[in-house]
Amino acid sequence: MNVDVTPTPGPSAMAAEPPEIARVGVIGAGQMGNGIAHVCALAGLDVSLLDTRRDALDRGIATIGRNMDRQVNRTLISAEDKVEALGRIHPGIDYAMFDDCDLVIEAATEKEDIKRTLYKQLIPHLKPACLLASNTSSISITRLGAATDRPEKFIGMHFMNPVPMMKLVEIIRGIATDEPTFQAVQLLAHKLGKITAVAEDFPAFIVNRILVPMINEAVYALYEGVGSVSAIDTSMRLGANHPMGPLELADFIGLDTCLSIMQVLYEGLSDSKYRPCPLLVKYVEAGWLGRKTNRGFYDYTQTPPRPTR
Ligand code: NAD
Repeated sequence: MNVDVTPTPGPSAMAAEPPEIARVGVIGAGQMGNGIAHVCALAGLDVSLLDTRRDALDRGIATIGRNMDRQVNRTLISAEDKVEALGRIHPGIDYAMFDDCDLVIEAATEKEDIKRTLYKQLIPHLKPACLLASNTSSISITRLGAATDRPEKFIGMHFMNPVPMMKLVEIIRGIATDEPTFQAVQLLAHKLGKITAVAEDFPAFIVNRILVPMINEAVYALYEGVGSVSAIDTSMRLGANHPMGPLELADFIGLDTCLSIMQVLYEGLSDSKYRPCPLLVKYVEAGWLGRKTNRGFYDYTQTPPRPTR
C-alpha cells in the first residue's frame, strides 16, 4: 500500500525502469541499522553490514539473532528462514565490501557531519549505478544528496523503530532525486512487507515533525514540575491511549536522536516553538541516552525500569 499524495509522474518520467535491487549495503549496526539488515536478509537480499566500531557490529549481529529467535518462537518465520537469513548478512568494517551493492542504506548516528564524512569514504567504492539512501530522521535529503556524487540517485528511506515490527517507511525525495530511484526504493519497501508514505523534504518529514515536539513537550512538563516521569507517561498511556508514554518512548528512540531532531526542527524552521528542552540537553550531555546506555528517564538496570525523577 502507498499513501502517496504527490501527482502521478508524466510519461517520460515513467519510461525508465527502476533498477533491480538484489544486494544491499547497510551503514551503522545500531538499533536501526541492525533492524534494516534483518528485514532485508529475511526478504532474500544479500546484505553487507558496516560499522566503524567492531563492538557495535558484534552487538548488532547478536541483536539480529535474538530478534529472529523471537520471530521463530512466534512462528512468524521458520528456524531454516533464520539460518538462511543470517547467512546472507556479511558484517565488516571496510567500505570495499559495498563494491557490488545495488543500494546502500545509511543508518549511522544522526549528525550531519558524520554522514557527510562517511559518504566521502563510501563513494569511491560504489559502482556508478548504486543507489544511496539515508535513514535520517530529520536532516535535509537535498542537502545530504548534494554532499554526494549522485544526488539524482540519493533518497530518504526512513524506517521506524523497531524495524522488523513497524510497518511504515517514509520515502523522501530530494530536489534532484530521479523517478527510477524513487520507484526502486518504493518497490523494495513493499518487498520488505512495509507500507510507504511519501513525505516532502522538510525538516523531520512527517512522523518526527509531529512526534518529537510532543516528546520535547513532555520533557518540558517534567522540567517545569507539571508531573513526575510516571505521572506523565501514565497520563499519555491511559488518557490519550498511546501504547507507550512519551518519556518511555524518548528512552526507546534515544535521547541523543530526539535532541538532534529538535535541533534540526529549531534551526530548519527558525521557529522558537521547537527549542529543545534544557533538561533534554542536560540528559544528553550526561550521556544518559535512554535504553542504549541503560539510563534515561528510566533506570534500566532495575526490573521493572525505575523512573529517575
Ligand atoms: P544508534 O546510536 O543506535 O546507532 C548508530 C550507529 O552508527 C552506531 O553503531 C555507530 O557506531 C555507527 N556509526 C557512527 N558513525 C559511523 C560511521 N562513520 N560509519 C559507520 N557507522 C557509524 O542510532 P540509531 O537509533 O540506529 O539511528 C541511526 C539513524 O537512524 C539516525 O540517522 C537516526 O536519526 C535514524 N532513525 C532512528 C530512529 C530511532 O528510533 N532511533 C528511527 C528512525 C530513524
